[in-house]
Amino acid sequence: MVRISTKTKAGLLAGLICVLSPQAMALNIFACEPEWAALAGELAPEAEIYSATTAYQDPHMVQARPSLIAKLRRADMFVCSGAELEIGWLPALQMKANNRDVRDNQPGAFYAALQVERLDVMQSVTRLMGDVHGMGNPHVHLDPRRMLVIAEALAKRMSEIDPALAEHYQQNLKAFAARWRQSTSDWEAMTKPLQGKQVVAYHTSYRYLFDWLSIEQVADLEPKPGLPPTSSHLAGLLNQIKGQPILGVVYSNYQDPKAAEWLSEKTGFPVIPLAYTVGADGTEDLFALYQRIIEQLLHAVESA
Ligand SMILES: [Zn+2]
Repeated sequence: MVRISTKTKAGLLAGLICVLSPQAMALNIFACEPEWAALAGELAPEAEIYSATTAYQDPHMVQARPSLIAKLRRADMFVCSGAELEIGWLPALQMKANNRDVRDNQPGAFYAALQVERLDVMQSVTRLMGDVHGMGNPHVHLDPRRMLVIAEALAKRMSEIDPALAEHYQQNLKAFAARWRQSTSDWEAMTKPLQGKQVVAYHTSYRYLFDWLSIEQVADLEPKPGLPPTSSHLAGLLNQIKGQPILGVVYSNYQDPKAAEWLSEKTGFPVIPLAYTVGADGTEDLFALYQRIIEQLLHAVESA
C-alpha cells in the first residue's frame, strides 16, 4: 500500500516535537485514493498517512478487507473523494471500524468532491442508467483549480481536528498553493496544443482534466457507466468515430486496455494510456502526476 513518507519526515517531526506540547501527536490519516494521500502529505508531511488503494486499482470497487478496517479504526480522519465514488465500500468500512471520529458529519470525515462544484450532477437517477454518479462526477482531482479549493478546505479541517498544529497546516498550505499556482499556469501554457482535441475515453475518469484543458470526450468505451465495454457497443463506436479527427483512445492504469486496443486497431487512432493518480508511472506527488499526464497527451499530439 502507498505510504506517503518523505526523507524529510523524521527531521520535520523532530523539529515539531521541540516546539509542541508533549501531548501533541502527528495526525493519523486514512486516504481512500493516492491523490488524497498525496495532498494530505503536502499539508501534513509529519502525519501517518495510509492510502487504501493504489494507482493500479479501480477506486469504485474495493474489498472492505480487515486490514483496511483496522487502518480506519486507528485514523483521526479520512480523506476520500465522496460524491458516491466509494459508495460500494467506504460505508462498510466506517461501520466495521466503529470509530466515532470518522463517522459522516464528524470533522474526521473529509470528502474532497463535496468541497467543490461538481460537473454532471443528475436531476434524477434510475437503475437503467447504469452505475452513474448521481451527485455529479467525483473524479475531481485532475482539475488543478478544484484541487486548490480542496487543499484550502483540507488544511482548515486539519486545523480543526488538530488545533495545536493549525499554524503549521496553514503555512504548508501557503507553500503548496504558491507552487501549485505557478505550476498550473505553466501547465496551461504548455497545453495550448491540446485545446479542442477530441478523444474517446473509458468512463468519465478524466472529465475534469478534459474540462480544464478544453479537450472533448466524444465517446465512452463503457456502454453505460460502470459496465465493461461490449462488442455491440464497440461496433457502434467504430461507426461513430471512423474518419473523425480523433486524437486517440484514452484509458487509465486501472482499466482493462483490451477495448481501447481493439478500437485503435480498427480505426488507426493511437491508444493513449494515461496516468490517473499518484503512483502511476512512478509519479511520486501531484506535481509529477500532472506533468506526466500532460507529457502523455502532448506526445499523442506530436505523433499525430
Ligand atoms: Zn467514476
